[in-house]
Amino acid sequence: MEPRLKIAIQKSGRLQEDSLRLLRECGIRVDDGKDQLRAQARNFPLDLLYLRNSDIPQYIEDGVAHAGILGENTHLEKQKDIHSVLSLGFAKCRLSVAVSKSVEYTDLQWLQGKRIATSYPNSLQAFLTENRIEAEIHEISGSVEIAPNIGLADAICDLVSSGSTLFQNGLEEKEIVLHSEANLYANKQLDPTLNGILDKLIFRIQSVLEARQHRYLLMNAPVSSVERITQILPGMKSPTVMPLAVEGWCSIHTVIPEARFWDIIDELKASGAQGILITPIEKMIL
Ligand code: AMP
Repeated sequence: MEPRLKIAIQKSGRLQEDSLRLLRECGIRVDDGKDQLRAQARNFPLDLLYLRNSDIPQYIEDGVAHAGILGENTHLEKQKDIHSVLSLGFAKCRLSVAVSKSVEYTDLQWLQGKRIATSYPNSLQAFLTENRIEAEIHEISGSVEIAPNIGLADAICDLVSSGSTLFQNGLEEKEIVLHSEANLYANKQLDPTLNGILDKLIFRIQSVLEARQHRYLLMNAPVSSVERITQILPGMKSPTVMPLAVEGWCSIHTVIPEARFWDIIDELKASGAQGILITPIEKMIL
């Protein structure tokens, strides 16, 4: 039987949807795995294992899963001997210390001797040790944000992205322990065949991620403006310039980083560009 790469993803929770979407955009077809533990890809030598988020690092280290999609925060907390092969750009968040709004927090020294509730005791302990703070860590597995309100702790250390959960619970973010996003992690001793499949997967993911960060830009402009417009465009290479049926006009095509579009749009218009179109790119191979 042909070897198949076993990839662990979250059984339920925040990372699952984005992980499955990424694989779908890589052209990998898997059946919806809500009620199952394992699913086979139909058109790629890959099996998905749906596992509990916090168990994934151990499974990858043991080789039960060959690779997996995981938040960096979980990897840093579990400290298993696995390696990150690619940052995936989603599930961006930070692990932060927060205290009640009513507290007069001065600086880190305020935490000295306090009780801090968290689901990330190792990461928090490393942060406190580094900053020479001695505090009591209360490990709890969920709903950490209610701990100060019920008198369980003076502060919490939890994941934050928008900050709305903290806000709803009357808490304020004070210290950032670490930043995190989803990564693809792999076992360190994969055999060459499995490594080959992993490399193919990495290549596909990179093409999808690259495409997500770029847009295809088309516009019409007077030929006399081409030089000025070319200088404005942060393109991959020089733009494609094609004549239009109307004398003295051309069509300019290029690829730009999505984040730059709004910065340059006014300059393009001021340079005579008209009929500007911007469209998503499905895959981008550099
Ligand atoms: P969960 O589904 O809550 O078990 O979280 C799974 C993973 O999603 C965490 O380990 C983080 O990497 C990520 N995550 C959790 N909370 C957030 C958040 N507020 N914003 C973004 N990512 C998060």
